[in-house]
Amino acid sequence: MFDYLIVGAGFAGSVLAERLANGSGKKVLICDKRPHIAGNAYDYYNDEGILIHKYGPHIFHTNSKDVFDYLSRFTEWREYQHRVLASVDGMLVPMPINLDTINKLYGLKLTAFEVEDFLASLAEKKDQIKTSEDVVVSKVGRELYEKFFRNYTRKQWGLDPSELDASVTARVPTRTNRDDRYFTDSYQAMPKHGFTRMFENMLDNPNIKIMLNCDYREIANDIPYREMVYTGPVDSFFNYRHGKLPYRSLEFKHETHDTEQFQTAPVVNYPNEHAYTRVTEFKYLTGQEHKKTSIVYEYPQAEGDPYYPIPRPENSELYAKYKALADGRPDVHFVGRLATYKYYNMDQIVAQALTVYGKIVGKKRQEAAVTTNNGNGKLSSKIQVNGSAVMVK
Ligand code: FAD
Ligand code: UDP
Repeated sequence: MFDYLIVGAGFAGSVLAERLANGSGKKVLICDKRPHIAGNAYDYYNDEGILIHKYGPHIFHTNSKDVFDYLSRFTEWREYQHRVLASVDGMLVPMPINLDTINKLYGLKLTAFEVEDFLASLAEKKDQIKTSEDVVVSKVGRELYEKFFRNYTRKQWGLDPSELDASVTARVPTRTNRDDRYFTDSYQAMPKHGFTRMFENMLDNPNIKIMLNCDYREIANDIPYREMVYTGPVDSFFNYRHGKLPYRSLEFKHETHDTEQFQTAPVVNYPNEHAYTRVTEFKYLTGQEHKKTSIVYEYPQAEGDPYYPIPRPENSELYAKYKALADGRPDVHFVGRLATYKYYNMDQIVAQALTVYGKIVGKKRQEAAVTTNNGNGKLSSKIQVNGSAVMVK
């Protein structure tokens, strides 16, 4: 009998498997329908021997010391500060927009103070910042919005920025200094030997059994377990009872080139040209030295594997219906980007999974404490068996 069946071996599932096994001595079966662990963070050495990310560039960054310390138990790190250039008006300029972006684009020599006034003169006043268009237009005005954000967002999401929550483009700041890093978090690093190795270390416990190429539906009725941790799409779990939750998909086109360097930055964004959004050159991320180089193009798609929840009001309303169903299943813990329909980064998923683990441990303690003296000297306690509360005397 397994204590937990964990569906999905990405960050959400693997953190919980690790905590439940190492932290609480539980017996865990973790299954994934893919042929590998690590979920979307999966990396591997391709035929040319170059370490690549199968599902697009994954760069670790966080402001949480707890998350960084937790993951540091399973990997050493290579310091890495991510940088992105955007191809706009026939030039490659820093993204997020900063002082150098403006000066290069407009052939100016503004100082940091002057660029602040320059952007303020372009910015449109908005009473309320509701959409992804509002966020950008209220900071840098319509022209820069159209050059950098409008078309990229339409390509990436199949929606206009005015149809998306503010949180989407708010991920990308605007700067008046020359800082050209994509992230400013206190911890920015890549697992020294890759993400997959880090996951292998997390799952390295005799109490954790791993089943790959396995949809949980194939085994859930035959393999006995007490509780489930589910990290797949929440609408699929409930057989789309309230209709399909929209997720955005991507197609990845990987290439290896017979040259040491393909482009001048780790990632180049193409807001206005091509069907793809960005090109990533992996050696920048991993620090690997190799005489060839591997890159990936990302082509946004409506159909395909669900990669991105789509943050907009009607989707939140639909998700709320699934959340209500999920709340009615105390035997199943819904965790992760797909199961909680949140556009979360890796560190946020780790934090979410650690919080869920804390709640599970807290609940078990409470259940143990409910062991009460029922007045006639006999002990009774409440335990959970596949969701239904059973009184044991
Ligand atoms: P996932 O990694 O998706 O894991 C869920 C797993 O569940 C999958 O492996 C899936 O196969 C499995 N599964 C689903 N249904 C079933 C089923 N029925 N039976 C069995 N298994 C099932 N985050 C960052 O912090 N930095 C980045 O640079 C970054 N870049 C990204 C780039 C791209 C292109 C994408 C798509 C995401 C990126 N992210 C990044 C986000 C990051 O991928 C997620 O935050 C993280 O992987 C979510 O982990 P998860 O465990 O919730 O989901
Ligand atoms: N974005 C954009 N132009 C860019 C970069 C980002 O319009 O050059 C918008 C786009 O809507 C994108 C969002 O900002 O989806 C968040 O960007 P991020 O790089 O964080 O996307 P992710 O890495 O999660 O795909």
